[in-house]
Amino acid sequence: MAIFLSWIVLAILVAVFAANKGLNAFLAFLAATLLSPLIGFIIVACLKDKKAAIEAEVTAKRLAEHSAKSTAAEVSARIEKDRGYTRDCPRCAEHIKFAAVVCRFCGAEFDQDGALLASPPQSAPT
Ligand SMILES: [Zn+2]
Repeated sequence: MAIFLSWIVLAILVAVFAANKGLNAFLAFLAATLLSPLIGFIIVACLKDKKAAIEAEVTAKRLAEHSAKSTAAEVSARIEKDRGYTRDCPRCAEHIKFAAVVCRFCGAEFDQDGALLASPPQSAPT
């Protein structure tokens, strides 16, 4: 009788274990009762954790969404920063730093306000 009771108790424990994994508790209980609690436990332990799998999927989705959002935000922030600190050279139209007084591409010189002061001597056309 004691063996039968502990058999049932162990089967219930297997069912609880299965329920915690998001599996069918009744089927687990049935398997544990008919086969043996130990075999039932091993079966449940070997089965894929449905709950964890679903949670992992949801987490992965959220992470993907989050990273996509932050990347877009980062890009727009970088563009905003870029606009604040750079401008286009009025002579060669290259992107140069806002505080530059000499264009690093064409050598044109500017005053502090960024107005074009002087251009380097042009190479004579051949
Ligand atoms: Zn330039």
